[in-house]
Amino acid sequence: MEILLAANAGFCFGVKRAINMAFEAAENCEGEVYTLGPIIHNPQVVEKLGSEGVKSVNDLPSEGGATLIVRTHGVPPAVMEEAQQRFNVIDATCPFVKKAQEDAHQLAEEGYQVVLVGDKGHPEVTSIMGSAGKGAVVVESAEELKDIRLKKRIGVIVQTTQSFENLAAVVTECLARGKVVKVFNTICNSTTVRQEATRELARKVDLMLVVGGRNSANTTRLTTICLDEGKTTYHIEVPEEIREEWLEKVEKVGITAGASTPEWIINGVVEKLKELEKSRATALKNS
Ligand code: SF4
Repeated sequence: MEILLAANAGFCFGVKRAINMAFEAAENCEGEVYTLGPIIHNPQVVEKLGSEGVKSVNDLPSEGGATLIVRTHGVPPAVMEEAQQRFNVIDATCPFVKKAQEDAHQLAEEGYQVVLVGDKGHPEVTSIMGSAGKGAVVVESAEELKDIRLKKRIGVIVQTTQSFENLAAVVTECLARGKVVKVFNTICNSTTVRQEATRELARKVDLMLVVGGRNSANTTRLTTICLDEGKTTYHIEVPEEIREEWLEKVEKVGITAGASTPEWIINGVVEKLKELEKSRATALKNS
């Protein structure tokens, strides 16, 4: 069985930066160190940081004075302001997410109704919406936009992990309904590159394994891409989830991973596949 790894699988620039900042804070900061929400959408990394003393909290802790790390997804300006008044804030918001927040603010200032293409309730979307002004709406698809009243001046921005096709469909709908449409393509390049590499690999193999947190939007999107290619696909978080029966009659298996998946888990998946392949070969020899 051949094992093929997608190009650019695993940590992106923003995640690497945030993880380094969190481990540095664990080592150097005195007192409690918190992250507001899990630092990235990968339970194994969050657990590792927890063992170094970095606690993930869902809301701003009631007692101030501690160190608070803002994760890659960022937070709305009001939350950042409050945090800065009460904590030693380490801002690990990805610079590309920061750019999307700034673009949203600019559109609102220029009088556009902001349409944000993204997953409702996703923390990055919440953080961008905090800067998007009155009347801003979040849509997951062009279809959804059909039921929404729009102004004549529409400003479109997009969650960094969305697909270009989805953005293009929403923009087309806005063009049909608005007089002036201004678009900021805030899709992150590393997302596009990873999605393309995944699509390409899915076409070449018999089975795809997508590795990453089940709560990770970009990992889930990679799974969708593989399924759209008509490929048998499993989304796993850890190597132990791989079932021997998945590999029956499989000659080529492809592995891809989300932007928040650490290298040690990807390597673990490769090792597990090799181990299963070895035991399959031994069983065949003995039969
Ligand atoms: S996927 Fe892009 S936007 Fe998101 S954290 Fe990584 S580099 Fe930043």
